[in-house]
Amino acid sequence: MLYELGQHQIELPFRHNTPDNNGRLLLWHEGRLLCEEGNPVWSATDHPFDVDKLEFIGLLDNKPYFTGQVIQAAGTETITLRDLALVSETLFMLASRAKGLLEWRAQHQFCGQCGQKTKQIVTEFALTCEPCRLRFYPRISPCIIVLITNGDQVLLAQGERHRDRGWYSTLAGFVETGESAEQAVIREVQEEVGVKLKNIRYLNSQTWPFPNQLMLGFHAEYAGGEITPQVGEIADAAWFKLDDLPKYPPNLTIAGWLIQSYLKERQS
Ligand SMILES: [Zn+2]
Repeated sequence: MLYELGQHQIELPFRHNTPDNNGRLLLWHEGRLLCEEGNPVWSATDHPFDVDKLEFIGLLDNKPYFTGQVIQAAGTETITLRDLALVSETLFMLASRAKGLLEWRAQHQFCGQCGQKTKQIVTEFALTCEPCRLRFYPRISPCIIVLITNGDQVLLAQGERHRDRGWYSTLAGFVETGESAEQAVIREVQEEVGVKLKNIRYLNSQTWPFPNQLMLGFHAEYAGGEITPQVGEIADAAWFKLDDLPKYPPNLTIAGWLIQSYLKERQS
C-alpha cells in the first residue's frame, strides 16, 4: 500500500444485502463521479438520483459501499477518477474497484467463446458460461513501472502523452502474456530507452484504472548503454541529478512515489 490505506479497514466479501441507511454510494454519470462539495460519497438512503442498478463494491470501515450509473444528473458537480486519485487514496481505490466491476459486468454479458448469456456465480465475483464451464473475472492488467537509478542520478522520460504537462516520469508498460514482471522491466526499458539494468527491486503497487492496470513499481540500477528514446513513444529521456529534478508526477501516483522514495533512500 502506498499511503493511507493502513488507517482503514477494507473488506471485500462478494455479496452484501441491499443498502440500508448505513450504506454508501459511489455514483457515475457519463464516466465521471457525482459529488457534493468535492465529496463523491453519497448516503444510500438519502440522495436525489434515480440509480439504474446497484453493484456491491466492498466494506470500508464496516460500511457497505455500492456503485451504479445515474442517467439524469443535470447540474450536479462531478469529479474525474484521475482527480480523485489526488484527493484520497482510499476513495480512489474504492472508485477504481467500482469502475472495474461495472465494466466487467457490462463487457461480459455473453460468453466470448460460444456467445451464450453469462450468469453470476453465487459464491464469488465471477460470471460463468454454463455450457463452456468458463468463468469471467473482473479484468486486471499488470503493468510494470520502474525508476532507473545511477547513484545521485535518475533516468526520467517524457512520454509523447505527457508532453503537454511538461512532466518527466518513470518508464512503464504492460506485462506481456507469458512474461514475468522482472522480464517486463528489462524488456520495456530496452525498448523505450535502450539501456541495460541490474539489481531490479520490487517496491510497491497501485491500482490505475485507465482502463484496468495494476502498476507494479520497481527501482533498478543502470548497468550500461546509451539512452536511445523509442520513436513515437518517448519524446525525450535524460539523466537528472536528484537535486535538480524536472517537473514530475505528484507523490500520490506511484511514479511520484518511486521518485520520492529514492530521494529519501539517498538522503538517509
Ligand atoms: Zn460459452
